[in-house]
Amino acid sequence: MKMANSSIIPIKFLILVALANICVSQDFDFFYFVQQWPSSSCDTKQGCCFPQTGKPASNFTVHGLWPNFNNGSFPSNCKSVENSFDESKMSDIVPRAETSWAAFSCPSKKKTNSTNSDNMKLWKHEWDKHGTCSHSVLHQHAYFDFTLNLKDHIDLLQILLNNGIKPDGKNYSVEKIRQVIKEAIGFKAGIRCNTDVSGNIQLNEIVLCVDKSAASRSFIECPVLPDANCPDNVEFPIF
Ligand code: 5GP
Repeated sequence: MKMANSSIIPIKFLILVALANICVSQDFDFFYFVQQWPSSSCDTKQGCCFPQTGKPASNFTVHGLWPNFNNGSFPSNCKSVENSFDESKMSDIVPRAETSWAAFSCPSKKKTNSTNSDNMKLWKHEWDKHGTCSHSVLHQHAYFDFTLNLKDHIDLLQILLNNGIKPDGKNYSVEKIRQVIKEAIGFKAGIRCNTDVSGNIQLNEIVLCVDKSAASRSFIECPVLPDANCPDNVEFPIF
């Protein structure tokens, strides 16, 4: 009997390890790397507020790095004691994130003292909602560092400008936007649109997919593109 019990323990242990590995590998399938055009969020009913650092440059900013499943659904808010947001881990991230990952939403009216958006709140929100779900691959500092490196590596605005697509308030073909990004990066991009207060449909976000291992420069063909909510031609608004 004793012999049998002692051989069962390692088997149980191996099963647990195998189950843990399956759980980790099923966390998510790939990342959406989402960049947004600032004036598109400013043109909605809610308007927008600039960060304390002032009006950001006329360029795409990071919205987030979102773990996703191949079937189009996504995990969110995978908070646990080990991955709660730690502001102190952001110190060397802040200067870069202020430039490339700025917030535009206005603080709630109930709060005194501010017409400025709050970057740290956006970063905490993105970490809590999305980053916690890819914690097995990227811990908090690595998550922000990796995302900002992606942003530095891919200059979407330059790609569009090189092809005559400018933020000048005119309309451009969504297919053409997709095509020039595919030529420059090698992968199809997701294009997301929004509607301004006058009913114009605008270029809002450009989505690229990234391998779940988060190896450097690991863009991939999207297993599933985000919802196509754009007409054939969309406004590229001035910022
Ligand atoms: P929206 O309503 O603007 O499409 O999305 C609202 C929020 O939902 C986004 O800021 C993002 O946090 C999340 N979200 C929307 N679509 C997706 C998606 O396809 N994947 C993931 N991971 N998050 C998404």
